[in-house]
Amino acid sequence: MRGVDVDDEVQLICHVNPDGDALGSMLGFALGLRRLGFTRLRATFPGEFDVPEPYRELPGSEFLVPEPGAYTDPALILIFDVAAESRLGGLADRLDGDACVVVLDHHASFTGFGTVSLVDPTAAATSVVADELLSRLGVQLDAAIAECLYVALTTDTGSFKFVRSPSVHALAARLIATGISPAEIARRTFDTRPFGAMKLAGEVLGRALLDPAAAGGRGMVWTYATGADLERHGQRPYVLDSLIDPVRGVAEADVAVVIKELTAGEWAVSLRSKGGVNVSAVAAHLGGGGHRLAAGFTAYGTPDEVVAQIRPLLDANLA
Ligand code: 5GP
Ligand code: MN
Repeated sequence: MRGVDVDDEVQLICHVNPDGDALGSMLGFALGLRRLGFTRLRATFPGEFDVPEPYRELPGSEFLVPEPGAYTDPALILIFDVAAESRLGGLADRLDGDACVVVLDHHASFTGFGTVSLVDPTAAATSVVADELLSRLGVQLDAAIAECLYVALTTDTGSFKFVRSPSVHALAARLIATGISPAEIARRTFDTRPFGAMKLAGEVLGRALLDPAAAGGRGMVWTYATGADLERHGQRPYVLDSLIDPVRGVAEADVAVVIKELTAGEWAVSLRSKGGVNVSAVAAHLGGGGHRLAAGFTAYGTPDEVVAQIRPLLDANLA
């Protein structure tokens, strides 16, 4: 492994289909490294170079390059919000070189890779780990870094609904003290969607099914969205990610499932529990991972076949 100098190439990577925590912690960290004097910084994620609309204006976006534009032989690789190498897609081969690979993550299901792994399963978001490392490196928060970390923190905590530690609000206070506008950021990140996305949500939520006997009688509610649904409404896949929230609010079910078609017959599955089922274990059985109450995996077949895979595993993983 090589030593790292400020003039060396540094490649930052976050997970496929990046969300606010992945992009926010990665770009916030890149801005911090620039403040330390690093000059060759690139940030990327695997797959199609399609940054979800709400994150296009994030500070640090100038570091973003499509997957093929990533450094081929960087001295340092920093990985954000990635619990398993499978979430690195075609970029996983970069780990085989002699670069120092530092992983910042917060998933209990972290599989263990990289030269150094800074993984705190008690952290509310990867941005909490990023803030800690920035502070140890002596980087002072500024409004640009803070905006990135704030987007990341609010994304993964459901806008502070799932917070269990006062330290999360203490971090939020430090971020807000830089002068960022939480209301403006929340409106842009969570409350602005195209008209077609609302119409699509109406259809997807309207076809939800309630299965009260699932999960040992705790109940499951599930729905799905196809590529054809997206096309009909002229929408990008990211607009489906927020639909798990209304679905998980169904009182009659402990478990919520949204099955989203990525490409023909390949689905990204979101699982949520209110505490009655360990959905991380369910997802892990099906090749994915996540947290006890929020997890996901990639599935194949029809939505009915995907649900048939999930259902027995719920009974086997009651909390
Ligand atoms: P979401 O449903 O919001 O996409 O993801 C919920 C949680 O599950 C996140 O912590 C995410 O990292 C994890 N997750 C989602 N999909 C996958 C997957 O395909 N593989 C793994 N390992 N984790 C996933
Ligand atoms: Mn995260």
